[in-house]
Amino acid sequence: MPPVARRPLFALATGALAAPWIAGGARAQGNYPTRTVTVIVPFAAGGPTDTVTRLVAEAMGRDLGQTVVVENVGGAGGTLGAARVAQARPDGHTLLLHHIGMATAPTLYRRLPYDPVNGFETIGLVTEVPMTLVAKKDFPANTLAEAVEVIKREGDRLNYANAGIGAASHLCGLLLMKAVGTAMTTVPFRGTGPAVQEVLSGRIDLMCDQTTNTTEHINAGSMKVFNVTTAERVQSLPNVPTSKEAGLPEFEVSVWHGLYAPKGTPAEIQQRLSKALQAALRDEKLVARFADLGTAPVAQDRATPDAHRKFWQADIAKWKPIIQAAGQFAD
Ligand code: ASP
Repeated sequence: MPPVARRPLFALATGALAAPWIAGGARAQGNYPTRTVTVIVPFAAGGPTDTVTRLVAEAMGRDLGQTVVVENVGGAGGTLGAARVAQARPDGHTLLLHHIGMATAPTLYRRLPYDPVNGFETIGLVTEVPMTLVAKKDFPANTLAEAVEVIKREGDRLNYANAGIGAASHLCGLLLMKAVGTAMTTVPFRGTGPAVQEVLSGRIDLMCDQTTNTTEHINAGSMKVFNVTTAERVQSLPNVPTSKEAGLPEFEVSVWHGLYAPKGTPAEIQQRLSKALQAALRDEKLVARFADLGTAPVAQDRATPDAHRKFWQADIAKWKPIIQAAGQFAD
């Protein structure tokens, strides 16, 4: 396991290379992509963002007529992977698929090696995924109310895993600990893929994670689940109560994901990528797999650069006062 945090916390394209796209829209779009496209996932392989990205990448590749590969650059709550993309050549061949952390990092981090707002072009929203509060199989509670009692009693003797500051699992843990009024010991991982393995092995007591990573383990009976963090129940987990049903209505969060390109990526390429994303989100295989994992693609009109940018900006504004009121920074 990684070290334990005792307290919970809250080229430019060179003229030569860019010229064909900048010079003429139609031709530019026709030429792109000229080689394999890489999508950076800012978390470890095997986790929920990774799972969503691999499904989207495969389907986008079919529309683009090029292979789309996924590269995992985990660490620092997703900011290392985001930095890699912000600094990449803005030619549409290096992209980022990130989640709600893109809305919290601008307030949580005072020093980042990139501009967390203006360093990216938006391509489109992808999906909004419910979270689940899960526990190791022999955790001594069977309902959220019982889990709250155990948390109050055991406090920092319990290990709570997350994917670093600003990750969805971190935000979800904050909401939980705030609602309960008791802190647990936070153990950060490079992504919740490896963290879930530690819940399965019993070395981690509790964690929040997207249904895209927990559904199959829950349905196999290999971990306990107490609630889903959305207003409605999730179809793939019909017996799991919502936070409200389970008695903690304020414990609500859903994890939106979006696709980004480095700042300066030509508008034609953004549009081409958005079209490929929309095609991917209509792909029957992808839709079915998303449903198995407790989620669904966003509506087609949200998978656009404009809708994505507006939603992202609004979410930065939503989280800012919450994070500022907590008075804690990641750095
Ligand atoms: N679910 C993780 C989070 O806490 C990230 C991941 O591994 O996808 O944000």
